[in-house]
Amino acid sequence: MNLFLKRLRCFRQLLRQQWLSPEQMSALRRRRLRRLVRHAGRCVPYYRRMFAQLGMRPEDIRDEGDFRRLPLLKKTDITAHGLRPFLSEGYDPARTTTVMTSGSSGRPMTFIRTPEEEALGHLTYPRALMANGVRPWHRQVVIMPANRLSDAKSPLGALKRRWKLFLEAGPASDRQIEVLRAFRPSVIRGYNGNLQMLAAAIEERGITDIRPRFVFGTAELLDAGARERINRAFGVEMRDLYGCSEAHCVAWECPAGEGYHINADTVLVEFLRHGRPVAPGEPGRVVITPLHVFAMPLLRYEIGDIGIPLAGRCACGRGLPMMKMIQGRSDDFVTLPSGFVVPPVGTFADVFEARPDVAEFFLLQEKKDLIRVRIVPRGRLQPDTLDRLQRDIEALTRHEAVVEIVVVDRLERPPGGKIRRIASRVPVSL
Ligand SMILES: [Zn+2]
Repeated sequence: MNLFLKRLRCFRQLLRQQWLSPEQMSALRRRRLRRLVRHAGRCVPYYRRMFAQLGMRPEDIRDEGDFRRLPLLKKTDITAHGLRPFLSEGYDPARTTTVMTSGSSGRPMTFIRTPEEEALGHLTYPRALMANGVRPWHRQVVIMPANRLSDAKSPLGALKRRWKLFLEAGPASDRQIEVLRAFRPSVIRGYNGNLQMLAAAIEERGITDIRPRFVFGTAELLDAGARERINRAFGVEMRDLYGCSEAHCVAWECPAGEGYHINADTVLVEFLRHGRPVAPGEPGRVVITPLHVFAMPLLRYEIGDIGIPLAGRCACGRGLPMMKMIQGRSDDFVTLPSGFVVPPVGTFADVFEARPDVAEFFLLQEKKDLIRVRIVPRGRLQPDTLDRLQRDIEALTRHEAVVEIVVVDRLERPPGGKIRRIASRVPVSL
C-alpha cells in the first residue's frame, strides 16, 4: 500500500508539473539535470572516467549549455563497454529491474533501473492519456509483443483484467478482431505498425462496429497514410505517443493538435545537427537524457530518431515544450550519393499508398546507390504498377540510385512485432 501511495503522489506531482510555466519547467529540468550529472560523475565508473578525461568536475555542469560539453553516448558505446561501467555503485543488483529494447532497429539493448524508477517512468504514459481525455474507469485494450506480455501481469489480477486486456501483437487475426468486438474497449493502445495492420484487417472485412473513444499508437514512424487508415478503421482521431524503452514516454500529442509535448520534467531532449542544437522548426537528431534514472544514467544518449523542436507554447496552456511530428528514425532516412537526404514521410510511403494493389512494402537502401524494394500485392497487380513504382522511386531518389523491385508473397516479420517499411543501411548525414 505504501508503494501505491508513493506512486499516487508521484502521479499527482506529474499532473501538476505539466502546468508549470515554461520558465518554471526549465528551472525544474535544470535542477534535475544537475542532480543526475553529479550522481553520474561520482558514482558511475564510465562517467567518472569521462569527467577525469575531460578535466572537468560534475559540479562544472550548471545548465544545458555546460551539459553540451559532454560527448554523446551512442548505443555502440554501451555494447562496446558492456553494462558494468554504466551501473551506479551502491545499488543492489538484486533490487534492480532489467529492461530490454525489442531490437527492431538494430541489436536489442539492455538497461538497468530500480523498480521505483521504472514505475515513475511508466506514469508518464497515463499523464499523456489523461490529458487526452482517458479516465481510469475506461476499458482498455493494449496490444503488445509476446515478449513483453509478462510485464503486463498486474498485482490486482482478475479485477484489473475486467477493464484492461492485453492482446499479443502480430499479424492481425480474426481472433484479435473478435476479442475487440466482444470487449468493447474505450481505449486501444499499441504499436503503430500493429494498429495499422489491425486497421487494414478491419477495413478488409468491412467491420464498422469497433468504435473506441481513443486510439493511441507508439513506437514506429507514423506516416500520413497509416494515420488515416487507423482513423478510418476505428472512426476516431488517433494520437501518437513518442516513447522508448530507455526513457519511457518522451513526447505525446495533445488534443490541441499542435505537435507533441515533450515530457521535460522526466527527460531532457536535444535536437542536434552536426553536433549543435538546431533552431526551432529545423530537423535534428534526437538526443535524450532520462532525468529519473539513476541506477544506470544515460547522459546525452543518441536514440536514433529525427525530430523538430518548436518554439512557442501550445494552445492547451501546458508549459511542456513542443516538438513536431517525428519524421522517422534516422535509419529510415535515405541519404543519396550527392548528400541529398530523403525523409521517409511524405515521399516513399506515399508512392506505395497511391497503389491500392500493393498490400505491403519494404524499401531498403542497401548502399548509397542501391535501393531494394519488396512488395506484396493485394490480389493481382495492375499492369502499370511496377513501372510506375520504378519511375516514382527513381524520381524521388533523383536518379542517383539503382532501384530494384521484387514481388513477394509475404514480408518477413522481425521478432517483437514491429515492422519496418523503409530502412537504410547508410547513416544519415545530419
Ligand atoms: Zn497542448
